[in-house]
Amino acid sequence: ASSITMSGLHKRFGRDAVALDGVDLTIEAGEFFTLLGPSGCGKTTLLRILAGLEEADEGQLNIGGKDVTDVAPHHRSVNTVFQSYALFPHLSVRENLAFGLKMKGMPAAERERKVAEIAQFIKLGDLIDRRIDQLSGGQRQRIALARALVCEPDVLLLDEPLSALDAGLRSQLQVELLRVQKRLGMTFVFVTHDQDEAMVMSDRIAVLNGGKIQQVGAPREVYEHPANAFVARFMGHGNLYSVTARSGNQLTTELGELEVEQDAGGALVLIRPETLDLKLGHVEGRNHLHGRISERLYRGSHAEFRLELAGTSLQAVVNNRGKHMPDVGDEVTVVVAPEDLVTLSE
Ligand code: ADP
Ligand code: MG
Repeated sequence: ASSITMSGLHKRFGRDAVALDGVDLTIEAGEFFTLLGPSGCGKTTLLRILAGLEEADEGQLNIGGKDVTDVAPHHRSVNTVFQSYALFPHLSVRENLAFGLKMKGMPAAERERKVAEIAQFIKLGDLIDRRIDQLSGGQRQRIALARALVCEPDVLLLDEPLSALDAGLRSQLQVELLRVQKRLGMTFVFVTHDQDEAMVMSDRIAVLNGGKIQQVGAPREVYEHPANAFVARFMGHGNLYSVTARSGNQLTTELGELEVEQDAGGALVLIRPETLDLKLGHVEGRNHLHGRISERLYRGSHAEFRLELAGTSLQAVVNNRGKHMPDVGDEVTVVVAPEDLVTLSE
């Protein structure tokens, strides 16, 4: 496995389209690292620069301790899996898997051994002798992954490899991919626009917006302590309110007076819906807010509530096992734990 260091990467297309606006990032050897962000934020451009398929206008790129800024794609120990599979449709799975090894000049006996190994690893079973054009989309995606893995690159780049698959197959392949990466110890740079997928799979995540890195951190860090409002919103439903005054650990907010355990400063306070506690009726206490239920979505394992309070609204997610569930129209008290409040800037 290799580490990757990017410094000051800039890329624009034409005059106005800024794809990357100064990216500095270090990815550790053996890490499952995810580039996460909305469509158009520069994920594919960054991956193509790592692969050597695109040249940065400015900046430096180092892979495995070597400056590869000016090194051609086939001289980098990097392999790429794209969303479209790029397999040979008229060849068998076996032939597709062996293709890259053959190009590298590996003798036939060794090739066969490697292909058999990866086929067992990814559990391809009797797919191995089928032609690609006889396979489903999900099966093709697995073959594309197997073909990239069989060459044992130091770094594997994956551009939304699972986003075309249906939910069931997708979560199955997420688990499989994660297991393969940990077993082989390769460095994975994984691109997705799906924050759930990013959180499930990654050792660390870089959140991008407008060609700029907004935050880098472990999934929990990014979810629980977002660096700014963009990250807070992108990582899940966040109730965000403006802070109008502060004194010690006491905040005056759009929602009312709130005590925080730690005030990091910033003009906003974030309240994640699942950190809230709901009590029926009007109960007085510290960080107790009073409102009315305007919407309830029952989802089996939990329920989502929308509440109207202090002239604004708030979302709460409650695990309702064994509790009485409030109804639309009910008056409720929302209890906010000071340690669950996060202050941040716009
Ligand atoms: P993502 O993969 O996050 O959706 P991309 O890296 O594909 O984003 O694109 C980033 C920005 O660069 C977008 O505004 C996109 O329109 C632009 N862009 C990407 N590739 C090209 C290209 N070949 N020509 C012109 N503009 C491009
Ligand atoms: Mg893309």
